[in-house]
Amino acid sequence: MLPTRTVTGLPTHPRARSRRRAGWFLGALAAGAMLALVGLRPAPDTDRPAKSAPAAAQLHPASWPANAITVAYLGHATLLIDYLGVHVISDPTFFHRVGLDVGHLFTVGPVRHTPVPLAPAALPPLDLILITHAHMDHLDLPSLRALPRSATVVSCAGCRDLIEPLGFADVRPLEWGESTWVRGLKVTAMGARHWGRRWPWEADRGYNSYVIEKDGVRMLIACDSAFTPIFSQLHDNPPLLAAFSIGAYDPWIRNHANPEQVWEMFRESGARYLIPIHWGTFRLSREPMDEPIRRLIRAAGPRAGAIAIRQIGGVFQVSAPALRRASFPSQPGHRIAQDSSGQPRSGAQSDPR
Ligand SMILES: [Zn+2]
Ligand SMILES: [Zn+2]
Repeated sequence: MLPTRTVTGLPTHPRARSRRRAGWFLGALAAGAMLALVGLRPAPDTDRPAKSAPAAAQLHPASWPANAITVAYLGHATLLIDYLGVHVISDPTFFHRVGLDVGHLFTVGPVRHTPVPLAPAALPPLDLILITHAHMDHLDLPSLRALPRSATVVSCAGCRDLIEPLGFADVRPLEWGESTWVRGLKVTAMGARHWGRRWPWEADRGYNSYVIEKDGVRMLIACDSAFTPIFSQLHDNPPLLAAFSIGAYDPWIRNHANPEQVWEMFRESGARYLIPIHWGTFRLSREPMDEPIRRLIRAAGPRAGAIAIRQIGGVFQVSAPALRRASFPSQPGHRIAQDSSGQPRSGAQSDPR
């Protein structure tokens, strides 16, 4: 059950009411500017927490082995990762909307179309929260408030002032090329082709992709990005897994790669498994909600087996025996489970090696 944010105990004093009206006005103005900027359209229904998905029954982080790498896609850009015993979450979004957080009471912005598969209360003890950039759908204040303040937050270079006031004591903004260590996990920031302003009138706060590494195994968590050759620099020491945003390209192709371009960037990175994110959750653009994943599978053609997670709530695990191998073949050997319709089967998938 997700925490419920309800509007209760609103002030009735006239001065408080006028302050509230002013707050509403400023909030609406800011929301309008934000939505105009990123092309978001608020949906008409009320703010409420998303329901748990049926897939939640398959998500048991407590049972994930600490000597494996397990990745769960929780919708939009949120990945829950057990990286060899270090618990990481990226760009957490748990609630019914993302957008402008008005007085901690409700949010103005796009509505969630797919239920969140795991509530904050069901998360394992988090060691690390990764924030790629300050856009409303990535740095979501209500979701951060729902997480333990004991976690380290690694963020975009200019994002400290948004995160620290929430009560996180260990916030580490990184510039591209900088690294930090959290419980033996190395986190290195690298670039992308995107932008990092939260509001139209402020300076760019930066935007980071991250390479995380432990015991010589690397994973790329790419920031939202337009097509760029930047990820080809990983090819000589390629990540095992790479998460790329595949949605919000119509008409925002100048800032968000389309699935064919993502496939090309994934190929250039040399990574073995692709975890597509940023699709099917919030409507940020004109393409149909399931078009990004369909186009990605088509673009991958005979290598579609490298697409490790194809649904929200999906889980992918690289077992300890697979990780013990000194080198990984360039072609993925595992098979994505299919049901009789030819669609990927729900639930956990794993690398059998
Ligand atoms: Zn963005
Ligand atoms: Zn985004």
